Amino acid sequence: MGVYDEWGLEPVINVAGTATRLGGPAMAIEVAEAMLQASSQTVPMDRLQDRASSFIAEMTGAEAGYVTSGAAAGLTMATAACIAGIDPILMERLPNTTGIPNQVIISRDHRSGYDHAIRAAGAQLVEVGMNEPLAGAGVRRAEAWEYEAAITDDTVAIAYVATPESVPPLETVIEVAHRRRVKVLVDAAAQLPPASNLSRFVGLGADAVVFSGGKGIRGPQGTGILAGRRELIMSVALQSLDLDEHSSLWDPPPGLIDSSGLRGMPRHGIGRGFKVSKEEVIGLLVALRRFADGGSDAEIEKSRAILGRVSASLARLPHIELRISEAPAGTTFPLLEIHLNESLLGRSAFDVDKALRDGHPPIYVHERLLPAGVLVLNAMNLDSQTEEVLVARLHQALSEPVAVS
Ligand SMILES: *Cc1c(COP(=O)(O)O)cnc(C)c1O
Repeated sequence: MGVYDEWGLEPVINVAGTATRLGGPAMAIEVAEAMLQASSQTVPMDRLQDRASSFIAEMTGAEAGYVTSGAAAGLTMATAACIAGIDPILMERLPNTTGIPNQVIISRDHRSGYDHAIRAAGAQLVEVGMNEPLAGAGVRRAEAWEYEAAITDDTVAIAYVATPESVPPLETVIEVAHRRRVKVLVDAAAQLPPASNLSRFVGLGADAVVFSGGKGIRGPQGTGILAGRRELIMSVALQSLDLDEHSSLWDPPPGLIDSSGLRGMPRHGIGRGFKVSKEEVIGLLVALRRFADGGSDAEIEKSRAILGRVSASLARLPHIELRISEAPAGTTFPLLEIHLNESLLGRSAFDVDKALRDGHPPIYVHERLLPAGVLVLNAMNLDSQTEEVLVARLHQALSEPVAVS
């Protein structure tokens, strides 16, 4: 009996990809084993985060890094660092930012539920730009001069959500920001793979970049990577670490926290609630090392083969069209799109999705294109056993006669 069965839960087949609501992708075995070992001994957390900092720096080209409790927590902490700097008095106040600079500029079409993480630090978002093509009302999206025009003495940062479709180019936004001494925070949570993105945004000059630890790199689901400037990471460490120590005995690792420039030792900060365990830090480091060593390349090839077989097995079904799509560079997980002719099929993509979810085991597909009548499948979590069940269930859901009442 599996551990979920023991607690009365039925594990699902996850072809939705890295979805956090489904617990994220399966963790690499190597990562799970490292976490098990890490759990039986203890180390000072500032020493562990200091080691993590130098490893993240090595992997990303950043000056320093920190293991956060997810990319969203990384956004909150990077924002808190931009607002408070290394002043313990300001750290103590957050998220109350009354009377201190707290504005973060963001393009309207970069906004999402995740910007709650930025606001949680006490930041006020200032929107710029339009998305006229989406509204069918024009051809232009946000432009660099609009960011520049929004910068005031109250601006602490520009937040930029990096995707292959993001505009204006990050390098242009960084140029504008740095000319006015404003920092740039990049949300690249789901931009791994490709591994080249580990250093790409840092290389363009971003001051802080966040990645999810529990998405494409298959680390612990509750972790994230923050890579950035040394002083920002020092602020994040000071606002995150448990600081219940006598100040006379406090001896933080100088690579992570240079206490010589501090006016005093802060108390627990806004990040104390985003605790990351020692097992998670070790798990993240092992996952990052594995990923940077090409760990996802073989998985991408395996996914492509699985999707090819699933697609071939559905090829004879009427009223559907099958398409395997992938990024031009071929460096992200391929996706199988099942386009339904909903009227001939007699059911919508939502109906099929619901039938897949309600069966046993429940199957969750990527739901982004359901309104367009398309089921999207990511094979990163499949093995030969679940592949077989998936094929049988898809056949059933796409071909069984519609009940007539
Ligand atoms: C997933 C995601 C996040 C949050 O990442 P977590 O590691 O789950 O906290 C933030 N921003 C974007 C764009 C994401 O896709």
